Amino acid sequence: PRAPNEEGPMRQVAAGMAGGARPTSRARARSPASGFQSPAAARASGGSVGAFAAGAGGPVRPDFTPTTGAAGKGAASAQPIRAGAPTEARGSRNSLLSIVVRKRPMNRREIQSQQADVVLSKNSAVIVREPKLKVDLTRYTEEHNFLFDQSFDEHTTNEQLYCSCVRPIIDAVFQRAKCTCFAYGQTGSGKTFTMMGPNKKQCENLPERDRVPGIFLLASQDIFRSLAREEYSHLSVYLAFYEIYCGKLFDLLNNRQLLHARENAKSNVVIVGLQEHPVQNVQELMEVIEFGLVSRTTGVTAANLDSSRSHAIL
Ligand code: ADP
Ligand code: MG
Repeated sequence: PRAPNEEGPMRQVAAGMAGGARPTSRARARSPASGFQSPAAARASGGSVGAFAAGAGGPVRPDFTPTTGAAGKGAASAQPIRAGAPTEARGSRNSLLSIVVRKRPMNRREIQSQQADVVLSKNSAVIVREPKLKVDLTRYTEEHNFLFDQSFDEHTTNEQLYCSCVRPIIDAVFQRAKCTCFAYGQTGSGKTFTMMGPNKKQCENLPERDRVPGIFLLASQDIFRSLAREEYSHLSVYLAFYEIYCGKLFDLLNNRQLLHARENAKSNVVIVGLQEHPVQNVQELMEVIEFGLVSRTTGVTAANLDSSRSHAIL
């Protein structure tokens, strides 16, 4: 929510998703066997962090080798901090960027093929237990420790995750902060589940109480609840939704209109011509999102795209 021309400090929360992935080579390269990676250090160096896509239910194979995975460019400039001093990074809780990891449960396929769970999520640490083979073929496990602002295990619900790390930034929005929350991680790691909740097909088979809403819905409920208060009567909600695909921008709420990102006189990047839709309540907001997603999916299918090459920004 915003009043026109409102500026404020920038706050961001990034939710890293663990699942079926492996530690990236860059992350690994900087991770001594028992050291902790610190997101605080990544922030200090301005990295977009990402850094880490850890492996819940990753396959245990003798040839298990790290690959450069979801992290990509600009990731993992984290420096290890002293092992045994995790509180140092926790002190960064008040900083402007917060990186949390969520581990998803192993899926049916992973359980059926008796894959081992190689990720342990504990407080704000994530431990990846990498099965390895010595030259003489004896098996051993190499542990990689990573430290985040928070980490959530496979038993965490969307709502718990929302309350711990997203609700505070919604409150900040009403204190004139500019906030962003995004999920990153490899395909199948649980980004859509976290942001949107389980999909329609999955919901059909679930009892009502297990149809957990995603962060979008939980956040919009809180936003509109706050907006109803007298002190915020001058604020309203506008929605813009666009897609980045092959370096091009498309307006998902305006017929996939091609858009251009340009820098204005204040050196801010603006997306010229991007439509903003006013929304009055949660239902309207979810309907507009739904509308945008349909436009997105159609475009993606038509081009027979790998979904990970397209990014949607709401
Ligand atoms: P992504 O969007 O990152 O590609 P999805 O959100 O589609 O991944 O998740 C992949 C599968 O795992 C989906 O079937 C989803 O329902 C399931 N899943 C992901 N996270 C969880 C979770 N925390 N609890 C239960 N199932 C989950
Ligand atoms: Mg998805």
